[in-house]
Amino acid sequence: MTADHPPSVDPAVDPAVDPAVNWAGNVTYAARRRVRPGSVAELQRLVASASADGEHVRALGSRHSFSRVADTDGVHVDTRGLGLAVEVEDRPGGTVAVVPGGATYAEVAPVLQEHGLALHNLASLPHISVAGACATSTHGSGPSLGSLATAVCAVELVTAAGDVVRIEEGDADFGGAVVSLGALGVVTRMWLRTEPTYDVRQTVWVGLPADEVAAQLGEVMTSGTSVSVFTDFADPTRVSTVWVKDRVDRPSTLAPCLASHRPADHDVHPVPGVDPTATTPQQGSVGPWHERLPHFRASHVPSVGDELQSEVFLPRAAAPHLLPTLTAISDTVAPALLVHEIRAVAADDLWLSPMRGRDSVVAHFTWKPDVARAMVAIRAVEDALAPWEPRVHWGKLTATEELRAPDGAYDLAAFHELCARLDPGGTFRNDLVPARLVG
Ligand SMILES: Cc1cc2nc3c(=O)[nH]c(=O)nc-3n(C[C@H](O)[C@H](O)[C@H](O)COP(=O)(O)OP(=O)(O)OC[C@H]3O[C@@H](n4cnc5c(N)ncnc54)[C@H](O)[C@@H]3O)c2cc1C
Repeated sequence: MTADHPPSVDPAVDPAVDPAVNWAGNVTYAARRRVRPGSVAELQRLVASASADGEHVRALGSRHSFSRVADTDGVHVDTRGLGLAVEVEDRPGGTVAVVPGGATYAEVAPVLQEHGLALHNLASLPHISVAGACATSTHGSGPSLGSLATAVCAVELVTAAGDVVRIEEGDADFGGAVVSLGALGVVTRMWLRTEPTYDVRQTVWVGLPADEVAAQLGEVMTSGTSVSVFTDFADPTRVSTVWVKDRVDRPSTLAPCLASHRPADHDVHPVPGVDPTATTPQQGSVGPWHERLPHFRASHVPSVGDELQSEVFLPRAAAPHLLPTLTAISDTVAPALLVHEIRAVAADDLWLSPMRGRDSVVAHFTWKPDVARAMVAIRAVEDALAPWEPRVHWGKLTATEELRAPDGAYDLAAFHELCARLDPGGTFRNDLVPARLVG
């Protein structure tokens, strides 16, 4: 860093929030300092200068990752002060949203809605930054819907040399530029495909027979645009809840196990017994896409707060085996568990995407906030699901020491080459990425 251009020290960090730890509190960042540049030019100078001094740099999003993916021993960059706004751009292929990387989906979605636009899907929470979510291949549910990164059609980033580089769909490097784990540079803007706005009806079923849900899992997952099955294995004969989010302009057919049971006549929380105030409206309530696709309201603390998470991605063919396999190890899993969620995500071709080349069924776990106990259960889950070559969520906990990819899962060679080319001095490296990405 040169004395001429000292980056502004973040003046607006919420004093109630400790920026030195992640949202869950299980990761204390090793960063020596945290800065919030006031413009892209200031960011360029900061990165070039840190890079020249051999200092590591990493962009930090909204800190919702449970893994150390966002950590650095150098400079943490908060991109929320760059002075960029959400904009809408008409292109030959359709309207795109031009979004600051540091903006959250909770900030972006209402602007799109005002323009009569929507995104194809959202995660369980809108609190996360767009760049952070896309960098880790964050996803919602929907067998025909790709992860949030699949909405991206261009990325603009500041590289280690301090250059602003834009990588577009169709460019040779695009497959590595979106799910980048923060290893290529600091993303300043992303261009997201949009579609005309739509409404979604959210309906929840409670306590359905587990054997019926397991046997009909394929039909359950296509019973709406976005479906989640939750269970805590407290009663292995019943799943806790099934959440169906259905676009009203594209109604789906309910699986027999849903059609033959009445939906809940009260709102519920995904974690059994938790107050549902933080959840989005249910009981067949229709509302705009961004107020139904996430499980949690933007205005509330998502999920439980005191928790850990892990997640594995399996080929869709594993779906019927998921509940029986996990039920068989429920003595190990259940004591550490708050809730397990099954979702579906469509295949994509992004080099580091866990959905790369594979339509996926996704097994998510919200654990009690006891790392040692959770890790025992996570290992048991990953071992039990090993026959289906699970891939892990980059932003969550895993028992895998190295982020070892099953053969051919990722295009690691291309990603390592891209890292070496855009970041030859390793400015954006951390302990995890790209060092522990091995094939
Ligand atoms: C309660 C809760 C619910 C969740 N639900 C889901 C879910 O439904 N689906 C799902 O898939 N995941 C889910 N997650 C995980 C979460 O979506 C991911 O961890 C995601 O990365 C969080 O985004 P973030 O902005 O907090 O990123 P961070 O954790 O801050 O950073 C993640 C990565 O992105 C990089 N990054 C951030 N900003 C930039 C930038 N501007 N330029 C370059 N790189 C950048 C960081 O360097 C890091 O490598 C959930 C997490 C929580 C806490």
